[in-house]
Amino acid sequence: MNATGETIDLYEVLGVSKTATQAEIKKAYHKAALAHHPDKQPEHLRDEAEIKFKAAGQAYEILSDESKRARYDQFGIDGVEGHPGGPDIDLEDFINMFGAGMGMHGMPGMHGMGGPGAGGGKPRGRDVIHQYEVTLEELYKGKTVKFGSSRNVLCPSCKGSGGKEGAKPKQCSNCEGTGHTTSLRQIGRGLVTRDEVPCPVCHGNGSIFKEKEKCRKCKGACVREEKKVLEIYIPPGAKNNEKIVMQGEADEVPGYTTGDIIFVVNEKEHESFARAGADLTHTIKVTLQEAICGFSRVVLKHLDGRGIHIEHKKGKMLQQGQILKVEGEGMPYKRSENKGDLYLVVEIIWPDEEWLADDNNIAKIKAALPEGPVPTFEAVEHVDEVEFSVADLDDVHNEHHNGPWVDEDSDDEDEDGANVQCQQQ
Ligand SMILES: [Zn+2]
Ligand SMILES: [Zn+2]
Repeated sequence: MNATGETIDLYEVLGVSKTATQAEIKKAYHKAALAHHPDKQPEHLRDEAEIKFKAAGQAYEILSDESKRARYDQFGIDGVEGHPGGPDIDLEDFINMFGAGMGMHGMPGMHGMGGPGAGGGKPRGRDVIHQYEVTLEELYKGKTVKFGSSRNVLCPSCKGSGGKEGAKPKQCSNCEGTGHTTSLRQIGRGLVTRDEVPCPVCHGNGSIFKEKEKCRKCKGACVREEKKVLEIYIPPGAKNNEKIVMQGEADEVPGYTTGDIIFVVNEKEHESFARAGADLTHTIKVTLQEAICGFSRVVLKHLDGRGIHIEHKKGKMLQQGQILKVEGEGMPYKRSENKGDLYLVVEIIWPDEEWLADDNNIAKIKAALPEGPVPTFEAVEHVDEVEFSVADLDDVHNEHHNGPWVDEDSDDEDEDGANVQCQQQ
């Protein structure tokens, strides 16, 4: 049987040999497209059929084009996608992204379905991945989350066999008694992986009972639904994408080691704090008067609701964009009393135009501020007086960054996020 993550060859997707002619490829594609058309499949096979259908189309797209095919033969899928030397794509990232994508549609993302586990025993059941959104405040303080879980557990009456006591089952013909079949799963454009899944006919048992010999409790399904409340603890200082694993809480399947429920922390963007590891950054607004004359006040509200007070003594000026470091006021480190640092970025509030319109104010400020030092330029040949206007920063930026950053080719025919990543044209 196949291990998790084995990537299937495009020739294999179409079921042709590497030396197949164009005519053979075309024929195989038509056959595959017809056989896997999702509309023609029973419910429980539809998802997989859709993947096979899509994969066949992508395989055909590449193999029917001789130059793409030659590149594929030589360099694999990366050569065809046109980014040799591009960033390496981590297969695990791909799978995670795929899981994340599904999670957003309200379905638990399915994670790898193992072949025989490291222990050499039973294969591993699917993990269920939940993406869980957490605010920075919650990550600062830590959070306990309770949620209702509904999953299949082995039927206690027949212990997952599906039959009455003493009844003798016959071999399942769908899986030839192995209890599992393989299922294709798409992990990106042109990338399909083969997973092992429990046989849908015998529920992983490899055998089935005659109608009257089926367990009366579960009617041969081998499992029953169990509802319970699970609780996870997100510790203070947990990071974005951190996984919290609840071992063995996924569906129970006869013959399989039960998979895990995995919570993935999704840190929500904060409107005023930015986080880098354990450090935090926050902009503080200071009036021009404060920047020059000093102040002593609360400059921000921290993530736990505390006011953070600083004293800026007179005798030193604050500049626009200056960064002040407050040690030990960043995010907590996990399982530690220590915290990172807090960086305050100074933003100076200048007086408004109304204040400026008052000649009295101008006179006072002019009298108070020193006149120099004014830069001078010696030996200039002659002086031109020119006009100016205030430029829009965005315009200046765009003029210099037009071109390679503009996305001319955005004909992504797939909606799932994973594909966007592998089209680095
Ligand atoms: Zn039962
Ligand atoms: Zn079976």
